[in-house]
Amino acid sequence: MNLYFDNAATTHISENALKEYIRTSEDFFANPSSVHKPGLNAHKKLDEEREKIASLLKVKSSSIVFTSGATESIASVISSLLFTTPGKIIISAIEHEAVSSWLPLLKQYGWECKELKARNGIISRDDLIAELTPDTKFIGIMAVNNVTGAIEPINELVQCVRDYEKTINRKIFFFADSVQALGKIEYDLTSLDIDGASFSAHKINGPRGIGMLYLKNPSSFRPLSTGGGQERGKRGGTENLPAIAAFRVAMEEWLTDQKKKNETVSEYKLMTINALKELGLEILSPEISSPYILSFASTLPSEVFTRMLSDKGVYASAGSACSNNTKGESEKILLRMGRKPNEAKNAVRLSFSNSTTKEDVEALISILKEIVNGK
Ligand code: PLP
Repeated sequence: MNLYFDNAATTHISENALKEYIRTSEDFFANPSSVHKPGLNAHKKLDEEREKIASLLKVKSSSIVFTSGATESIASVISSLLFTTPGKIIISAIEHEAVSSWLPLLKQYGWECKELKARNGIISRDDLIAELTPDTKFIGIMAVNNVTGAIEPINELVQCVRDYEKTINRKIFFFADSVQALGKIEYDLTSLDIDGASFSAHKINGPRGIGMLYLKNPSSFRPLSTGGGQERGKRGGTENLPAIAAFRVAMEEWLTDQKKKNETVSEYKLMTINALKELGLEILSPEISSPYILSFASTLPSEVFTRMLSDKGVYASAGSACSNNTKGESEKILLRMGRKPNEAKNAVRLSFSNSTTKEDVEALISILKEIVNGK
């Protein structure tokens, strides 16, 4: 039995993405910055890949900066604040550590840092409005939470920031970590009016170590790594062209018939929710959450329950798996969402992918029943 339900941690690279990775490594091995023929060919390929990805996301190709992943995209944006006059930064209290871990350093540099409560996992417009002050410069609110799948009302939140800007006559940078949103909920950068967003290929069947930073207005941005001036000066370092090409293939595949795929996964999530409820277990994901993430409170400490699942061939995680201290981090996030300590302690995250089948879900449900009923 091999039932992989940890797709929010990482997904299996798709066959076509892997083939493209190998093909690009062989056919476009040269450095895209080299001015000889193979280098120019690699550069052309890089431009083409950027155009294709931009058109999939319906944004300008100049707004895309390729990075090594979401963590670097986030680091690049937030560290750029250290080069500016300190002000106030507001983030949600349930951000991934890639965002929240920056707060101590920002404080040292004189920034006032505020974390917004997330009652039931959702950031409220009123809480954000109450924190907006004339020295607010940066807001970071994730589009979809990685522990529970909670979908944040980004559009609404951005709108209140844009309204507030009119009273101070200055722009506030709105950043949305969008790692768990791309291809998993309806998510349209063109209609969102955010200034920056982070993405990661390995959450949608792409390779590890490649991600993207979306910048609506790249000219106003001071990068973390400068070096060779690649990515139009926004991210130094030789571009990982094979991974970029494979990311594009994975994105094309994932976004094809996205609505239908999202509906199918929603059905699977609902099947699982119904089974968990029948077993008397508490669902921790809010109603408005990604079809791909389901968090519930098990009957045992999460590391014990996930171990029992693993022994039966079901691979899930204790909360989120993107941190070395996965359990501690997820517990903290769930407590911040207002969950009871024993629910947070026993939390298990099941995460689906487009390749999850109904048979996988049925098998998962019968194993959950076996464990909860002590068989
Ligand atoms: N942000 C969120 C919401 C995530 O779920 C993750 C990874 O799990 C990250 C950021 C970090 O992404 P990466 O592995 O590409 O650095």
